[in-house]
Amino acid sequence: MGIERRTMLKGLGAGSVAGGLAMFAAGPAKADASPDVHSILSAAVAWRVTAAERDMLYRQAFNIACEKLDSALRGVGQQRRGARPLAFISDVDDTVLSSNSYWELLIAAGKQAFDDELWDAWVRENGPIATPGAVEFTRYAESRGVEVFYVSQRDQGPDTQQIGVANLRHAGLAFADDAHAVFQRESSNKEPAQQAIADKYEVIAYLGDNLNDFRRRYYVKSVEERRTLATEDADRFGRDFILFPNNTDGHWMRAIFGTSEPADTPEYRARMLLAAQGKVL
Ligand SMILES: [Mg+2]
Repeated sequence: MGIERRTMLKGLGAGSVAGGLAMFAAGPAKADASPDVHSILSAAVAWRVTAAERDMLYRQAFNIACEKLDSALRGVGQQRRGARPLAFISDVDDTVLSSNSYWELLIAAGKQAFDDELWDAWVRENGPIATPGAVEFTRYAESRGVEVFYVSQRDQGPDTQQIGVANLRHAGLAFADDAHAVFQRESSNKEPAQQAIADKYEVIAYLGDNLNDFRRRYYVKSVEERRTLATEDADRFGRDFILFPNNTDGHWMRAIFGTSEPADTPEYRARMLLAAQGKVL
């Protein structure tokens, strides 16, 4: 028995469960332990494109945002006139726009790591559709006089902003215009753009699928440090930080690989398998 299996079985109190796992681990799948034959991303993509649970996590998050909006409007009603207008600041990709069909294409193309060329072609062709509940949320905010601002980091060259706004509009989202959308190319640090909005608006909440959508201080390269920093702010999640699921990309990947979009190499596959066993801290 290898050290990994001993660690895995330790703490599993029920003998029958441990026995079942032992049989599984000792079975004919041993040859599949080589990183070369693993489909590193397939299960993650299967989840995001099929699981109703994923869709309902989006609905749940937007429901929280709507409740926050109603509550903020009630609060403003009790305040003096002249208070700053209310707004949300939202990320774009995998927050209000779904990348699911991109990942389906990527897997169909036999790829197992993020592919910039495919991504750029897909966004240029208006590949994204709205995430579940995003259109309803932005339209509801609009109907209540609350603005939604989009702050995203993308780089498809000089027409990045134009493509991004076209994507928002194509998906049917409210506030799909240059006055409400910033697609910044140079840096993933969103705080200057977010602060410029916060200077003029009372921000009800931030929406995003990446910790970096909430605070730049989470932009660290260690799995454990990231977790610690987020946990320090745990009370803010579901309140002024509204988080959406993304199990295929984001800075959690950067914490594992040192880069957000690692190329598909034998080292990448080996390190992903280590991470999946809790061995990358
Ligand atoms: Mg995102």
